[in-house]
Order: sequence, then structure tokens, then C-alpha cells
Amino acid sequence: MHNHTVFADGKNTVAEMVQAAYAQGVRHFGISEHSPFPAFPGGGMRAEDLSSYIAQMRQAQAEYRGRMEVYLGLEQDIDSPAITEDFDYLIGSVHFLKKDGQYYPLDYSEEVFLKVLKEVYNGDIRSLIYEYYRRVSEVVKVTNCDMIGHLDLITKYNEDERLFSTEDPYYRSCVTDALDVLVPEDRIFEVNSGAISRGYRKTPYPQKWILEELHRRKARITLSADAHHRDNVLYGYPEMTELVKACGFTEIQVMDQGKWKTITV
Ligand SMILES: [Zn+2]
Ligand SMILES: [Zn+2]
Repeated sequence: MHNHTVFADGKNTVAEMVQAAYAQGVRHFGISEHSPFPAFPGGGMRAEDLSSYIAQMRQAQAEYRGRMEVYLGLEQDIDSPAITEDFDYLIGSVHFLKKDGQYYPLDYSEEVFLKVLKEVYNGDIRSLIYEYYRRVSEVVKVTNCDMIGHLDLITKYNEDERLFSTEDPYYRSCVTDALDVLVPEDRIFEVNSGAISRGYRKTPYPQKWILEELHRRKARITLSADAHHRDNVLYGYPEMTELVKACGFTEIQVMDQGKWKTITV
């Protein structure tokens, strides 16, 4: 349900992504392009492309009817203007920090992340962590999303814990404070392999201890590839399935016949 195309930062068209998914045996496939983000050009699809994106998705839906269910999604950034169009589902994500009216991308590149940490947060990773999770805790309230996108995105450039220890109690309390708000809102948390396929991480978002915490709190989850290339639409599914089972999950959510449904893993 979490995939991208050339309408934003993906490498393939809607038609190519859908065709690749079908060829790989997928039978329920959603694309969730990045919402327009006029305040930060390049931060999402162009507002003027929104109607073509919807039209191409509806066309793909019609073309594959009876063979594969195609869903029109949107990855709605918390700072994007509210949308008025109808989508089959929304993923709510935080990609930016905001300070004094300026937006600072979190996942653009490691160089940019380190620059933001140094120049905007005076090198204080804890204030950046706090600010990220404070914003994440508002993502459902602001976007009314079905799915919460890549929780823990701030660990993208923290492989081997080079920026902070994920055992730091301060960091962990920021995460659990956000879960205190988000879990009762009863949305679906995604387990996302996107940073692995693109070479940034060895494990999916969120980390195992967070998945265990989500399981303890009886949260619902889904698996997604956050594919930006047609070869990656099923990236990491066997590994993610093993991981969530090891964390105690026996069920995940999938969209079927236009509704979220629980299946056993
Ligand atoms: Zn995202
Ligand atoms: Zn995405």
C-alpha cells in the first residue's frame, strides 16, 4: 500500500508500477504518492499533477479489475495542505521538522540531516528527537490517516547507532509518549522496508523494540515496501513477516474489497 512513482521521487510510472506488481503476483496493490507540498518545492508531487495522478490510478484500477485490486492512496505529509479529493486510503507521515516557519527535511540525505542537526538544533540530537516525535504524535489528528507512515524515520541515518543510542531512555520516552497518543487513535502502523531497499538501513522501520511495544499495546500493523522502483514492490516481505512474528504478532492488516481486513501471518 505504500509505493511511489515519477509523480514524486519514484523511478517508474503508475502503469509500470502496477504492471510490475501484477507480474510479481501481487493481487492487492496501492500507490500512495507524496502529497503536494507547496511550501517546499520537491517535497511532494506538484499540486498541478494531482488530477493526472488520480486519473492514471483510476484508469489502472479499471484496467486490472477482476485480476488485481488497485488502490488510490496518498502519503499525506503532516504539513501538506488538507486534501479535498477522495482517496481510497491515506498514509500520514512526518518528513520535515519546522522551525520559525522554515521546513527542514529529515530524510532527504544524510548530509542535509547532519546540517539540520548542527545548524538548526545546535548539534543537540535530543531536541531533534523530541521535536520529531512531538510532530509524529499529531499525525493522526492532523491528517486523519488510515496508516501511520514510517514511524521512527529519524533513525534513517543512525545505522550502527552513529548519531545516538536507541537505548537512550530519553529517546525511548519520546517514542512511548507518541505511542500513548497514537495507539488509542486505532490506526494502522506500518512496518516499512523502504530504507533497506535503498541501502540506508539493515532493518525496517520501526525498530524491533517499538514493534514489541506496539504488540504489547495491541496495535494493528501492516507491511509495506515504500517502493520507489518497480523491482522493489515486494522488497523485504519474508523478513518483515518473520520479524513481526518474532515480536508476537499473529495478524496484519491488508486492504481487500476496499476495506481493511485482518489476515493471519
Ligand atoms: Zn514517507
Ligand atoms: Zn513513502
